[in-house]
Amino acid sequence: MEEQYISSDFKLGILGGGQLGKMLTLAASNWDIKTVVLDPSKECSAAHTCNEFVLGDFNDFNTVYEFGKKVDLITIEIENVNVEALKKLKQEGKKVLPCPDKLEIIKDKGLQKEFYENNQLPTSKFQLFSSEADIVKAVENQEIQLPFVQKLRKEGYDGRGVKVVENTNDLKDLLKGASLIEEKVTLKKELSVIVARSSNGEVKSFPVVEMEFNPQANLVEYLICPASISETIEEKAEKLAIDVVKSLDFVGLLAVEMFLDENDEILINEIAPRPHNSGHHTIESVVTSQYEQHLRAILGLPLGSTALKIPSIMVNVLGEPGFEGKVKYQGLKECLATEGVKLHVYGKKVTKPFRKMGHITILDKDLDNARKKADYIKEHFKVIA
Ligand code: ADP
Repeated sequence: MEEQYISSDFKLGILGGGQLGKMLTLAASNWDIKTVVLDPSKECSAAHTCNEFVLGDFNDFNTVYEFGKKVDLITIEIENVNVEALKKLKQEGKKVLPCPDKLEIIKDKGLQKEFYENNQLPTSKFQLFSSEADIVKAVENQEIQLPFVQKLRKEGYDGRGVKVVENTNDLKDLLKGASLIEEKVTLKKELSVIVARSSNGEVKSFPVVEMEFNPQANLVEYLICPASISETIEEKAEKLAIDVVKSLDFVGLLAVEMFLDENDEILINEIAPRPHNSGHHTIESVVTSQYEQHLRAILGLPLGSTALKIPSIMVNVLGEPGFEGKVKYQGLKECLATEGVKLHVYGKKVTKPFRKMGHITILDKDLDNARKKADYIKEHFKVIA
């Protein structure tokens, strides 16, 4: 018999209660699917949007194991979770999606790179190192050449754990710990394609998004959909995302971040096994949101249409530099008076410089207009303390 998820006792467990978790619980709530969230902070974004909140550390074996036993299906909104506990739960017959083996590969940028290489998927050339001293030695012995990019194998995010090494001077500040170094790519554009694969094998990709970075914060500033790229590149990027999800035999939502280089070659930068910052706009600008698609994929339901309804620019609402403390929002009227603006506030109580506090999606059939509105909003809508 088909399993009943809707308006039933079925419980979807989510490891992590950040903004991605919040938006996932909202999508589940639209279908009256019960959610249980595990997070170490009782003030996390999803604590008040889920049906049941469990306070605890998603990196602790016992906490994750006990949490898993209480729910029917476990999924994640963050990959830095205790994979061993998920493996044990899976062995004991619990449904865990995405599969813990895949999370293990994705959590480690070294294993990720090896996976691309073993599956003939395009990525920049790389080498693994167990310590920063070994990198210095390799440079001295002329086994590797400057410039290069050093990345910690584990637990880097939002640009932390990434270091561009331009010259021998930079070797003093290498990141400590097991890392990889890779060729520094001359970036023409940074692209992202979110793709979903259902447990029944169906695959669908979302339209290509172009990511623009704030050089000061090294955080994504504007996410533009559709990306301004040729049809050929668009098709290539979508095909590559589909190749990755299939090669990995992955079930759920996978975000594939890519580089478009000076020769119009596409290289995979990294992947994320969950809803992604580059998919927030799908809530309003695509027929099916990434959050609904993730639910469809892990529940083995038919995937939804990923047709673009209207172009959009997504702006992360970041904590203003120089402010730390109880959050206040300034310029709400200017923001909401702008046509086509959709505001999402994550509900974090405390702001810090560059902390992701929310996002704004600007819908406009003309992307030049959308950009003007985005600039206006960035100037007027501020997160202060
Ligand atoms: P994180 O996992 O912290 O998001 P990324 O691996 O995505 O880190 O790197 C962060 C940013 O650093 C990228 O978006 C890109 O702008 C830059 N970067 C990363 N790797 C390279 C590279 N090989 N060549 C050039 N720039 C890079």
